[in-house]
Amino acid sequence: MATLDGLPPLRDVIQRHGLDARKALGQNFLLDLNLTQKIARSAGSLEGVTVIEVGPGPGGLTRAILSLGAKKVIAIERDSRCLPALAEISDHYPGKLEVIAGDALKVDLPSIAPEGPVKIIANLPYNVGTQLLVNWLLPPTWPPFWESLTLMFQKEVGQRIVANEDDDHYGRLGVLAGWRTDARMVFDVPPQAFTPPPKVTSTVVNLTPRPQPLPCDAKKLERITHAAFGQRRKMLRQSLKPLGGEALLNKADIDPARRAETLSVEEFVTLANTL
Ligand code: SAM
Repeated sequence: MATLDGLPPLRDVIQRHGLDARKALGQNFLLDLNLTQKIARSAGSLEGVTVIEVGPGPGGLTRAILSLGAKKVIAIERDSRCLPALAEISDHYPGKLEVIAGDALKVDLPSIAPEGPVKIIANLPYNVGTQLLVNWLLPPTWPPFWESLTLMFQKEVGQRIVANEDDDHYGRLGVLAGWRTDARMVFDVPPQAFTPPPKVTSTVVNLTPRPQPLPCDAKKLERITHAAFGQRRKMLRQSLKPLGGEALLNKADIDPARRAETLSVEEFVTLANTL
């Protein structure tokens, strides 16, 4: 049976190329092209946009992005078994899909990104998703090379990304994302939408860069949040002891008896700038 884009159904592609899902690579594939289109559409217009996709797998999301008019997709895939399936998509959309075989954590994305608008869209492998997001949030200079991130995470991770102070999910990720971006959850995706189904619900998160985030050294903010949330139930005078403890907090005019989860993003920035 043909699909909307004229390529074979993903179930056939997976069978023909023997792409049985590997847990170690975080492989939970999306086979419903209506759903992958919904995810791609949530990134806004893709006309004339270059998209970087991490982990295209058999190419469900890649096909959706291309069918929505992206100028080009640069896809980074670690599992070489997927390359022949991706080559078929490349043949169908000549000159529009470039596949980089390798580990996305080791690819210097700004150097492969061309001039012009770049959006990152990905159903991320769960084992490297958070690290990739942190790398995209913490380049030394801002604005970054990307104009939006549209990413699928386990719902619990999505909640941590969009969380504010006094929220149970608030932590290092919420501070780093809240500092430089507007982050919002777009919609949930139930386990049964994936093959094989994961244990938990997933969610699509959209992040766009704040044009002028509060000035702060990303490395210092990381050190502060790492220490503060590493012992989140303790008072800050205790958890921040290695970084100056009470003296640092007094200098930043923050009560040393407070706990990390009560500090706003702005207060974390003040602390980092005081460091
Ligand atoms: N995009 C496909 C989809 O939505 O059906 C597959 C998503 S699956 C959750 C994650 C994909 O990332 C897999 O294809 C896996 O092989 C790939 N992957 C895992 N670790 C990776 C890494 N470090 N760099 C690049 N790709 C990776």
